[in-house]
Amino acid sequence: MFKKILIANRGEIALRVIRACQELGISSVAVHSTADADAMHVRLADESVCIGPPAGAQSYLNIASVISACEITGAEAIHPGYGFLSENAAFVQALEDHQITFIGPRSEHISTMGDKITAKETMRKLGVPCVPGSDGGVPTLGDAEKIAADMGFPVLIKATAGGGGRGMKLARDAAGLEAAFSGARSEAKAAFGNDEVYIEKYLERPRHIEVQVFGDGKGRAVHLGERDCSLQRRHQKVFEEAPSPVIDAALRAEIGQTCADAVGAMNYIGAGTIEFLYEDGKFYFIEMNTRLQVEHPVTEAVFGVDLVREQIRVAAGQEMSFQQHALKPTGHAIEVRINAETLPEFRPSPGKISAYHAPGGLGVRMDSAIYAGYTIPPYYDSLIGKLIVYADDRPAAMARLDRALAELIVDGIDTTAPLFTALLQEADIQSGDYTIHWLEKWLDQG
Ligand code: ADP
Repeated sequence: MFKKILIANRGEIALRVIRACQELGISSVAVHSTADADAMHVRLADESVCIGPPAGAQSYLNIASVISACEITGAEAIHPGYGFLSENAAFVQALEDHQITFIGPRSEHISTMGDKITAKETMRKLGVPCVPGSDGGVPTLGDAEKIAADMGFPVLIKATAGGGGRGMKLARDAAGLEAAFSGARSEAKAAFGNDEVYIEKYLERPRHIEVQVFGDGKGRAVHLGERDCSLQRRHQKVFEEAPSPVIDAALRAEIGQTCADAVGAMNYIGAGTIEFLYEDGKFYFIEMNTRLQVEHPVTEAVFGVDLVREQIRVAAGQEMSFQQHALKPTGHAIEVRINAETLPEFRPSPGKISAYHAPGGLGVRMDSAIYAGYTIPPYYDSLIGKLIVYADDRPAAMARLDRALAELIVDGIDTTAPLFTALLQEADIQSGDYTIHWLEKWLDQG
């Protein structure tokens, strides 16, 4: 087992990994920008290294600085969390060159899945069902017109290098295609430095359902059921639950096994998530994330596992402890993302937290790095915490979430917590009857 791990991240996910290290008896190293000198992950880790100025590109994304911090402190492995360098194949390659272990998959799998066209092609060959669309990149508007006419509108133009919902534009009909095509390309160019796009059939009322997978790198892989992440705003998840209200045990076993077989065939190592749109009883692959997801705690709750601990164990060369036959979900878990934002515009609300009280009690988990007196810097993601509840069934989990939200106090800044209290009153949310478009429509209606 490793003696020392460096966490190349900040916020709640850095704490999540530090806590797993502590329980495994592993010493932890935090890295931080000058804006994060007072951050909780710096306080909680055994050691810390300042790696640069506030801007992510000069600190948390600075590969040379992160590797230097590793060498200075003697850390043998790096956990990347999510975001930042977690899906950067060049980073993983650089670590291999420096004999530092990356707690995550091999660089080849990150590259394959990072390019959405290659990812779809790979998954299709492995028997995973995909959204109908173009075979590869679509270079010109003329090509786009031909493909869309064949496939039928509406279509979605998507960036090959896409992520975070950027570089994605909808064309309802032929008249809207040119604007969508050029809009997606320029957005992709600005966000990813790559303007290649492809086309997918636009599904009108799907749910977003993703399967958690885990591989040992030697051909054995398991699945840990699904998460339903259909409540989204601007293609960003805000509320996640496991199991999905619309997936039964037989369907879970079927799609889960398809996914486990696919990653097993790839010799994939560590945690991964295969994302699908689900409509009329059918699954359509959209992408694979080769890292731990923000919403992993709902899976941990219903399967009673520690995904980060398992990531660390497998990266250290130990056998995967998960056995498919022993992985059975029980109960129901819901996660809501608490962002430092002002409603109803979701405007960032950085600033000083004057008072903070985290909810507790049976079945409540608050993953957050904030504390009273902490000033949220304006440079990073607005996620300041995740509230996760677990109960015997879905109605009990909803009631628990409602009560936990009422206990939460974050004074001094605005948060998105009131959004969830309001959502819990909605009949569609209570019955689990919602698609990926539900939240946007509800917000539009004020
Ligand atoms: P990103 O990597 O940018 O997050 P994804 O491909 O994962 O992009 O898609 C993000 C979200 O966009 C999905 O959860 C869904 O809400 C929507 N989406 C993506 N593809 C389609 C599609 N073909 N039809 C309808 N909605 C889609």
